[in-house]
Amino acid sequence: MGSQVTMYISLVAVSGVLCSFLGFYAYFRRKEIPGARTFMIYIAVQAIYIFAYAFQLSSDTLEEIKRWTVAEYIGIAFAPVLGLKLILRYIGKQVSRLVLTAMFVIPSITMVMVITNDWHHLFYKSLELRENTLLLSTEVVIGEWYIVHGTFTFSCLLAGVILLSMQWNKTKKAYRKQLVTLICGQFIPMISAFIYLMGLSPGGMDPVPYVMCITSAMYIWAILTTRLLTIVPIAKEHIFESMREGVIVLDSADRLIDFNRAVSRMLPGLHTGWIGRKLEECWPHLTGAPFPDVRRPDSMQEIRIEHTAGAAACYQIRSSLVRGRNGELAGSLLMLIDVTEQTQLQNQLKQLAYYDGLTKIYNRTQFIHRSKEMLQQAEQQGDPVSFILFDIDYFKRINDTYGHETGDQVIVHVVAVCQRIIEPDMLFARYGGEEFVLALPSATLREAGELAERIRTSLERTPLETVHGEIRTTSSFGAAQSFRPDDTLESLLRDADAALYEAKRGGRNRVSTANVDVHS
Ligand code: GH3
Ligand code: MG
Ligand code: MG
Repeated sequence: MGSQVTMYISLVAVSGVLCSFLGFYAYFRRKEIPGARTFMIYIAVQAIYIFAYAFQLSSDTLEEIKRWTVAEYIGIAFAPVLGLKLILRYIGKQVSRLVLTAMFVIPSITMVMVITNDWHHLFYKSLELRENTLLLSTEVVIGEWYIVHGTFTFSCLLAGVILLSMQWNKTKKAYRKQLVTLICGQFIPMISAFIYLMGLSPGGMDPVPYVMCITSAMYIWAILTTRLLTIVPIAKEHIFESMREGVIVLDSADRLIDFNRAVSRMLPGLHTGWIGRKLEECWPHLTGAPFPDVRRPDSMQEIRIEHTAGAAACYQIRSSLVRGRNGELAGSLLMLIDVTEQTQLQNQLKQLAYYDGLTKIYNRTQFIHRSKEMLQQAEQQGDPVSFILFDIDYFKRINDTYGHETGDQVIVHVVAVCQRIIEPDMLFARYGGEEFVLALPSATLREAGELAERIRTSLERTPLETVHGEIRTTSSFGAAQSFRPDDTLESLLRDADAALYEAKRGGRNRVSTANVDVHS
């Protein structure tokens, strides 16, 4: 009999040693282990349970047993809920702080009940030494709170087993060993506690501390072979929710199935009420854009959303098809990527490359590029194109009299006056310092001359109000028209420049055409 007692105590000691090893392992590698603190507390309360149980085994009196029972309950009450907390973290289920705190209410009350049992007997109605048993143990008559505690403990263990089992299909083979270990870590103590509570354990002793040498050994095995604790598969749901890109899931009929948190931020109008309905119906209202063609594998769209703060965001939308196991169409994904910064940068670069910084109209390079296209098109259609070059008269004087800054204002003013007159299909650019150019599609030389004349009179009649008072300017114009197919942009601009020179020579503030004077 004595050797059997030694065997029991040795088994409990092995459980205690394995548990302590786990605790130390977690402590020394705590930086690499997500949720290390919870795991360490989990292991610590189990170790307290096991060692207190060992001391209880070697106790001689009921008083001593009672004292060690209180210590044991630190583990018995808290280990199941801590285990559940670890599992929730492992599977990536987000649980609010309030729920987590609430989970610890019953174990805390249990602890108080156990400590104060002698006053109310709500936990044990009676606790007496059991005679003639192999080990010194107790005969227990359970109280009301014991039932609450037992139910809660089983619920925690069972919930852990169920939650982990539900991950089975979603878990990659490489992580299944970890999953088995965690399931056993819940299941084995659950069954053992059940046997104990049913009064089926040999000699009425608690088998949980013994079986914990199995669960601890399994943990160590899983740590060594699968790096349990340090390499944790992050739940796909968690990845989906915390992605920076918005993801919308549609079924094969383009009905909305799911969307992640990023989408709620990007498209504030999209809410769960739309789930099950065709996304196409609300898409234009949400985005101001037509619904993308999700069947086209490379379909890409860019949308601009005005957010309430007044800031606009640009999102690129890419779609991809989701196929089932047999290659059949199961649905599609819409991925929303925030490209606001890139778009802004692109616009800035475009602005720098295509437009003049002071007047915001096309620069010379862009004018040449676009008017060559215009000429080509006109040539194919047999249409004429006319060009007007104009230059502000005596501009140096403005700079010299009022300063460069006022000179700049005059340049901007001249552009503003022109813009009121020119048509949207015309190209207008700053050709040089205070020299401008216009390309007029389908316009004859006569029409170009007439337009130049309108601009000339308008400039003459519209003075600029400045701090120095009114500044009046005039400009001189030269116009040219393409007649032959071999007229190049260069030759036409040369002709317009020659006409402009004529206008200057003729006294300025006038329009001169390449061959005939329209006005003088
Ligand atoms: P003209 O009637 O013959 O055209 O006489 P002008 O004084 O206007 O002579 P010109 O066209 O040669 O003068 C161009 C002047 O414009 C020279 C330059 O200092 C000034 N200029 C060129 N670019 C700018 C600019 O961006 N801002 C300002 N304020 N002045 C400029
Ligand atoms: Mg000038
Ligand atoms: Mg000039």
